Amino acid sequence: MATLSQPHSSWPSVLVVGAGPTGLALACELHRANVPCRVIDAAIEHGTRSKGIAIWPRSLEILRDLGVADEAAERGLPVRGGSLWSQGRPLTSFDLAGLDSRYGWGLVLPQPETEELLERRLVELGGKVEKGVRLVQARTSVSGLPTVTLESADGQETTEVDWLVGCDGPASQVRADAGIAMSGELEQYGWLLADVRLRTGLPRDWINWFLHANAVLHVLPMPGDQWRLTMTVGAQRPDPAEWPMARVQQLVTARSPVPITLTSLEWLSGFRVRQGIAARFRSGRVLLAGDAAHVHSPAGAQGVNAALQDAVNLGWKLAKVCRGEAPDVLLDSYDAERRPAASLTVLMADRMTKGATLSSRFARSARDRLWSNAGRRGVVQRALPPVVSGVRQGHPAGLVPASAPRLVARHARGLLATVVGRPYVGARLPDPLLDGSGPATPHRLWDLWPAGTPAVLAWAGRGRRWDEVDGFTALYRAVPRDVPVIVFDSPGVPADAIPDTPAWQVVPDYAGVVRRSLHAGPDTAVVVRPDRYLGGIGRASTPAAIRAYFQTVGGAC
Ligand SMILES: Cc1cc2nc3c(=O)[nH]c(=O)nc-3n(C[C@H](O)[C@H](O)[C@H](O)COP(=O)(O)OP(=O)(O)OC[C@H]3O[C@@H](n4cnc5c(N)ncnc54)[C@H](O)[C@@H]3O)c2cc1C
Repeated sequence: MATLSQPHSSWPSVLVVGAGPTGLALACELHRANVPCRVIDAAIEHGTRSKGIAIWPRSLEILRDLGVADEAAERGLPVRGGSLWSQGRPLTSFDLAGLDSRYGWGLVLPQPETEELLERRLVELGGKVEKGVRLVQARTSVSGLPTVTLESADGQETTEVDWLVGCDGPASQVRADAGIAMSGELEQYGWLLADVRLRTGLPRDWINWFLHANAVLHVLPMPGDQWRLTMTVGAQRPDPAEWPMARVQQLVTARSPVPITLTSLEWLSGFRVRQGIAARFRSGRVLLAGDAAHVHSPAGAQGVNAALQDAVNLGWKLAKVCRGEAPDVLLDSYDAERRPAASLTVLMADRMTKGATLSSRFARSARDRLWSNAGRRGVVQRALPPVVSGVRQGHPAGLVPASAPRLVARHARGLLATVVGRPYVGARLPDPLLDGSGPATPHRLWDLWPAGTPAVLAWAGRGRRWDEVDGFTALYRAVPRDVPVIVFDSPGVPADAIPDTPAWQVVPDYAGVVRRSLHAGPDTAVVVRPDRYLGGIGRASTPAAIRAYFQTVGGAC
């Protein structure tokens, strides 16, 4: 084979290995921030299998910020909520409507379609995917940079890159070559995944989990006239060849109290999940994201969602570092923020599967009583949608590295704030409807500045005169000139006078929805990160928290 070598300076500084949802979303984020990257994928084409199909509201927000949510919504099937059944009886339900998100529903979209939309967006942003190019080896050269060997139909090439991001799925070569261990264990269950056509009275906008003895059947409607059935079958990896439609039908009939008649079997897959989490998401100049960093069971349908969360968390940080605006220690916060979140996702998927497959009849009956009581008392509806949808997930570890005890304290503060419903540094910014917004013209907080850029939200100090600009002098000095600053005009905190600069604007909040959503008062100032999480909460008149944020990450992305 020919050996192609090019000087380092002619290569993009970032190599993204893998063009699944993670690699594509990350590449879009980088290109949007004007940081070019090279994206390779061993496959010649996107797969045709539906794979990760559930896209929850927080992920729809991410897709919207990337500019592809509307088309995704046109192609996909909205689902409003779900029900849990056991031994033929309904236990409880949850509804996604009423979430603090413009998406009060989830979307079912086969993974190849999500990938196609993201790839098209990447091309619009000036990027491309090099298909049929496989990473065969990655090592660290004497210069400290990753040296990669790539193989394609044209031959083999070896080169150095500044940053190597492994988005190459569960069997990640990048992870293996970086010597990053993957903790975890093989699940005790075999899973059968079937995309089918069927006849049933089940609604087409609702997900159902049927628990039966020590097994589960998960029924999810899909676009077109298909359905996805996910079921545990024994302790071994099931061989699809041994599961003709009649056998799948038997299993479905045994588990579902609602009549379901299969009419065709479109795709069948059998697997056992080795769930686990990488020991580190960053090792020097190597980063891991998506399934390369964490793998979990299909319970909860979080695979693509966790992948997108990784991509947006990493994207703006890597862009800042590549542009020389922030020190590379900022990338440590990617590990600090995303690894605990991903660990929780892995843990929850594990607990959901174990809870659904209890072997003791006594334990099953206790579990069912618990769910049923929680449902009747409204606990399920209050707790489940914010968690399942991803809107409640925050990143309390923050951007500044800290000792282990400090990190524990930050997580405890984040948890407490979540329980009492208060904002905290690392929480997702709420997205309430603004004044003057109606059903025909919805206008939300996030619409006030472009996706992918930071912003500062501020309220005037108490007793401030309507024409008093001076109250914002300190804030004006703390915020880089190109960062949008939005001052809310609320009752008692008039905001008519602001520094005369295009980045500053006054927005009416007479009903106080934004103020309440952030528990803001006179003189509050918060900084919002490019990924829509809170980067700092402080005072407009003494903006130490705002200044600290911009000192950590530099100016606008
Ligand atoms: C059968 C199946 C069913 C699933 N069902 C669900 C579900 O119902 N819900 C859910 O949320 N999730 C589901 N998942 C998981 C979901 O598909 C993943 O979480 C998601 O694909 C993760 O995206 P990713 O981009 O991190 O990895 P992947 O989608 O795996 O993408 C990795 C990419 O890297 C490329 N690659 C790998 N190695 C190399 C290399 N050495 N060089 C170059 N390129 C390389 C691959 O070709 C691939 O395109 C399912 C997965 C499978 C396999």
